[in-house]
Amino acid sequence: MEDYTLSDKNPGFKTCAVCRHTWNGRKEFLADPDIEIIGYQVHFKDLRKGLFLFNHRCNTSLSIPAEKFTDLYRGEMVEERKTGTEECPGYCLRQDELQPCLARCECAYVREIIQIIRNWPKC
Ligand SMILES: [Zn+2]
Repeated sequence: MEDYTLSDKNPGFKTCAVCRHTWNGRKEFLADPDIEIIGYQVHFKDLRKGLFLFNHRCNTSLSIPAEKFTDLYRGEMVEERKTGTEECPGYCLRQDELQPCLARCECAYVREIIQIIRNWPKC
């Protein structure tokens, strides 16, 4: 379905496994109108290892680890986790759920990053 082409050896930020389009930087990637965020695959043990899933116009899914976007978040970090409690709406358990989470939960900041990605001005 996709492959990782994110490494320091690779000069680009990401390359589409199918059409071979290369984005040279993160800004270029996020501003590309052909890129749409479609999902988030949580990694509960290490949130930074969660994956953001994007759809490319060629109909390929691209996945990029959340840690590549962590610095976009400048807000407060919460240490407590609310997953599975009454406060938790369970969004992280549904891959295609992209809405922000209002729980004061360690996992919520990743969902704030999703909003930043969704609202990124397209060029
Ligand atoms: Zn493509």
